[in-house]
Amino acid sequence: MEKHTNAKETRLTPEEYLDLFRKSKALLDGHFLLTSGKHSAQYMQCAQVLQYPERAAILAEGLAASFRDQGIQTVIGPATGGILVAHEVARALGTRALFTERENGIMRLRRGFTLSPGERVLVVEDVITTGGSVREVLAVVREFEAIPVGVGILVDRTGGTVDFGLPMASLIQLHIQAFEAQECPLCAQEIPAIKPGSRKI
Ligand SMILES: [Zn+2]
Repeated sequence: MEKHTNAKETRLTPEEYLDLFRKSKALLDGHFLLTSGKHSAQYMQCAQVLQYPERAAILAEGLAASFRDQGIQTVIGPATGGILVAHEVARALGTRALFTERENGIMRLRRGFTLSPGERVLVVEDVITTGGSVREVLAVVREFEAIPVGVGILVDRTGGTVDFGLPMASLIQLHIQAFEAQECPLCAQEIPAIKPGSRKI
């Protein structure tokens, strides 16, 4: 099944993608207590935007547009964040979708999933902060002697520091500044802090 879509029509601007995240409460502005103990003025939870299939499809079309002419045969992402992204990007490209999982800490293909030598594979993920999971998926792809063609990311939080040695596309580049509690400018303004996930926000 081939899709005939004009890539230029399906790729939104980073600002438009950010609007979609804000509208979905996937990106919150305020004063947050992070699990690291640090504080921040923004909080991101990709699952919030992916809960709406039509919005997930819009995001996936954007990534697919960057790799449409690359002969991609399979899209793969790490569980859990990469599962929906792989599925929607695969739908946009007309390919199959796989996901990797950790077993005893080791990233691998399970459930009878397999890749063929020479198969052209696109690796996707929802958010990267260090790119560690993507590197593990790339290693799995190479173990099967398949060919990683590129990396597609919804939100790149690495600050542009990551290099997978492959073409990479991201929809949004986001730097969320985190502060030590005693140096937090929001605490200084006595803005009440919220622990994400602990109450309805
Ligand atoms: Zn604070």
